Amino acid sequence: MTLRQKILLLGLVAVSGMFLALWLQYKAYLTQSQAIEAVVRNVSAVVALSHAAHELQRERGMTAINHSKTNAQALAEQVRHTDAALAGIRGDIASLGMALTQLRTEAATGRITPLAILDSYSKLLQRLADEMDRLTSEPEAAVAKTDMVAHTHLMAVKENLGQIRATLGYWTEHKSDDSVVLNRLFRLKSLQEEELRKFGLDASPELRERLAQEFSGLEVAQTLETLAQIAAAGKLPQTLDVQAWWSMATVAVDRLKVVEDYSLELIEKKAELELTQLRSSMRLGVIITLGIGLAVVIMAISATVALLRALDRALGSMELIAASQDFQIRIPADTPDEIGRISRSFNQLLDIAERLLKEKDYLATTDPLTGVNNRLRFAKVLGDEAERKRRTNTPMALVMFDVDHFKRINDTYGHNVGDEVLKALANLVSTEVRVTDFFGRWGGEEFVLLLRDDDCEAAMAAAEKLRNLIASSDIPSVGKVTCSFGVAAWMLGDTEASLVARADKALYESKKGGRNLVTCTQGVTGNCHGRVRCAQ
Ligand code: GH3
Ligand code: MG
Ligand code: MG
Repeated sequence: MTLRQKILLLGLVAVSGMFLALWLQYKAYLTQSQAIEAVVRNVSAVVALSHAAHELQRERGMTAINHSKTNAQALAEQVRHTDAALAGIRGDIASLGMALTQLRTEAATGRITPLAILDSYSKLLQRLADEMDRLTSEPEAAVAKTDMVAHTHLMAVKENLGQIRATLGYWTEHKSDDSVVLNRLFRLKSLQEEELRKFGLDASPELRERLAQEFSGLEVAQTLETLAQIAAAGKLPQTLDVQAWWSMATVAVDRLKVVEDYSLELIEKKAELELTQLRSSMRLGVIITLGIGLAVVIMAISATVALLRALDRALGSMELIAASQDFQIRIPADTPDEIGRISRSFNQLLDIAERLLKEKDYLATTDPLTGVNNRLRFAKVLGDEAERKRRTNTPMALVMFDVDHFKRINDTYGHNVGDEVLKALANLVSTEVRVTDFFGRWGGEEFVLLLRDDDCEAAMAAAEKLRNLIASSDIPSVGKVTCSFGVAAWMLGDTEASLVARADKALYESKKGGRNLVTCTQGVTGNCHGRVRCAQ
């Protein structure tokens, strides 16, 4: 797997991880928001149930009191209200409806006692209360949990008060079953107080305050006072009028209904607020996650692209260097990152390699004593030029010269002075030759000069000039030194060897002719005078 593929895979994993995180976040949000939405939905269902319970509680009281059928019209009116409220309940209440109808019939025919009627209504009310309980205790909804619990206690308080209203109402109308009624009232009162205590523990201050406010009226005070007196005296109040009791107890129950509605309103508001907060935090979360993710992706892409580009450039240059063997090429190393460092180090290695190659090249092609081109290099250049001449057929000439009586110099002044003489001569000639000429040491005290575009005559003139220069120059330690010259011009069919051989022969002729001479063995017409000799 290439680095590029690995980086690509890493990017893919990072992006998938980001989307997975987003998805998980969204799923958690969805679960929570659905739970809150369920609470909001349930609250509206509970409102309908609470309304129905309220009406049924009133019907229960009226039925228990009106068993003697003294106020049938008011009861009929209440039955309509109850039915309308029950119709507002969502869900299946068919069995409850049927039980209620049966109960009403039984009550109307007087087949069952008022207390049994009261109990049967209470059972039906219990079913409504159970349903409310179920709806207010959604397991997933953490929102307004204690408010829900407080609400359940509030419902129980109201139901108990409803039962108290009906029980005492029954007694004030019928004045019978005293001990049963008393027992029931005691039980209901203590239940009532227990539920109120629990409500006080769980309800929010706002709701507690509302209950206190609703309970501050005269009727509620009288209702509670009546109950307190019964409890204190341990007997039922003989003077209590049924209508007076019913009115004040109903005010108390209605006040509780107001608190109950307020409680549901609070729960709904809280749930809606929670939902709004959840949605905005979800939006913020998504924006932040996407923002960070996007920044990471962009940074990763730009870093990767820059890295791969720099790598490509470095690799391209390295491959080019390897292919062309050109150690003068350098890798672009302008970035401050690791690739830049690698490139700079590689360029330093290239500097070393280039220097070593140059040194090697210098040593391989330069004469160590005189510093001019050595025989190897000269032979190579001569070979190249010969090749070119074979194609272009243009003139070229070779001048070969040898120090006269050099042995004597060595013998007279010593080998070191001999060396110095060779250096001085090489230096002298080097400064004199043209840029197109190629000068080198052939060996010993013999030198060669390649005149790239000269014919025989021009070459002889150049050789004569050099001969004269050397002969007229003062060489340190030894004074005057002369050289003998042999000139050979390139001819059709020549090889490098034949050209050298002819120049060598001409040089030999110069030696033979008395030294300090220039000789060309080829047919030359002009300029053959003085120390320039043209041998046929
Ligand atoms: P001729 O005029 O005939 O050329 O006489 P010559 O003495 O120059 O010729 P010969 O070939 O007899 O002597 C050449 C001498 O050059 C012999 C050799 O010791 C000396 N020689 C060759 N190379 C070097 C060198 O690098 N340094 C020194 N000092 N002497 C060298
Ligand atoms: Mg010699
Ligand atoms: Mg010599």
